[in-house]
Amino acid sequence: MWRRRPRVVAFFLASEAIALAVLAVSLTRSPALVPRDWINFGILAAGATIHIQLTQRQEERRRNRKKTVLIDLTAVWTFSAALILPAPLILLVIFVIRLQHWFIARRPAHNFIFSSITHGLAGVLAHLTYTALGPHLLGTGWTDFLYEFGAIVLTGAIYEAIQIVYVGGALALGMSSEPTVRNVLGSPADNMLEAITIGLGAVTAILLAVVPPMVAVMAVVTVVFNRLAELDQLQNDVRTDPKTGILNMRGWSETAERALERTARSGDQLALLMVDLDHFKWINDTYGHPAGDDVLRTVAQTLDEVTRPSDSVGRFGGEEFLILLPDIDEEATRDAAERIRIAIAKSHIVTTDKRGDPATIADRTTSIGVARYPRHGDTLDRLLQAADAAVYLAKENGRDQVSFAPDTPDELPAP
Ligand code: GH3
Ligand code: MG
Ligand code: MG
Repeated sequence: MWRRRPRVVAFFLASEAIALAVLAVSLTRSPALVPRDWINFGILAAGATIHIQLTQRQEERRRNRKKTVLIDLTAVWTFSAALILPAPLILLVIFVIRLQHWFIARRPAHNFIFSSITHGLAGVLAHLTYTALGPHLLGTGWTDFLYEFGAIVLTGAIYEAIQIVYVGGALALGMSSEPTVRNVLGSPADNMLEAITIGLGAVTAILLAVVPPMVAVMAVVTVVFNRLAELDQLQNDVRTDPKTGILNMRGWSETAERALERTARSGDQLALLMVDLDHFKWINDTYGHPAGDDVLRTVAQTLDEVTRPSDSVGRFGGEEFLILLPDIDEEATRDAAERIRIAIAKSHIVTTDKRGDPATIADRTTSIGVARYPRHGDTLDRLLQAADAAVYLAKENGRDQVSFAPDTPDELPAP
């Protein structure tokens, strides 16, 4: 931990101190435990253990693939504990879960302890919220049901908010680049998964209150649910270029086809840019292939940053990238292409040379070919051909420039 940035260390220590203080107070104020609490605890701990043990291999695979925050599906058990158990037993459920995770996660101890404390705090504060909103389910009218539903939703929101403040805070402070909403808060799909997990936790708590043996069903549900989460990630992987993290050709084509259809329907125009790095082979030859890869990653990130969220950025192949810009006129297309060319030329890529010594690569130029819909074609294939021809023109004319596709193939230089 001490090797991390001082502000991250300070954040860890301060937030852990606050969390531990809250936990200590809530433990001393907790009512005495009754036998039913222990039965509920036993059921949740058993359910969580079955879930963890049956999904262990899969969870390891998921962890290895995922570079950002991993949604912990065991919130099904911790959130139901937060609703139904007193504070000491909530913490005991979390302890049982975290103990088993320790052997699966293989993460640095300070990270592991930090997230365990976060889980504990989220669970206990959610519990305090929920009990403060009680007494619960005394009536059977619709107002009672809606009130209870609202109380559970609010509790879930508190539970989630604590995790966001703690985990998001640590992530944001630890990032070398400017933190983005997506980096810190996770993707919409991740948040959806988290919300569903909390919902399943609420269902588990209700089962536990009404027909405790039915919780066995939830153990099965969570195992299946884990599979679904992995499936979702696999689907994502299929569309992503592993080297640069942007869309690969498959993912990009799907997105681009959809954008093209929308544009055709609305009668708008769109632009396709093909970005080819100049003399890229020279980088590989001079600094080695790992340095070349670093350049590709930086360029992909730059393209992502300088384009609008509605634009789709993908890797076409080797050192060629594609950008689809929907709903854009000719002048704005030229501006966008120039902005991209300049942004790449300005980037400094910190990497290593062939001997492994630090090196900085800068002043890299690009040739950008532009094709426009509908002028240069009305299918993605035709637009790609036109953009490719435009790149060829840019190279012919001395590289480091933006070229529009010729209107007719005769304008192309002879091969
Ligand atoms: P030009 O200015 O004409 O575009 O020249 P260039 O060197 O950029 O183009 P060329 O097509 O001759 O070389 C492309 C190089 O890109 C050759 C290939 O080894 C390299 N390359 C392709 N994919 C990758 C990759 O994933 N990583 C690395 N490091 N190099 C790659
Ligand atoms: Mg090329
Ligand atoms: Mg090239």
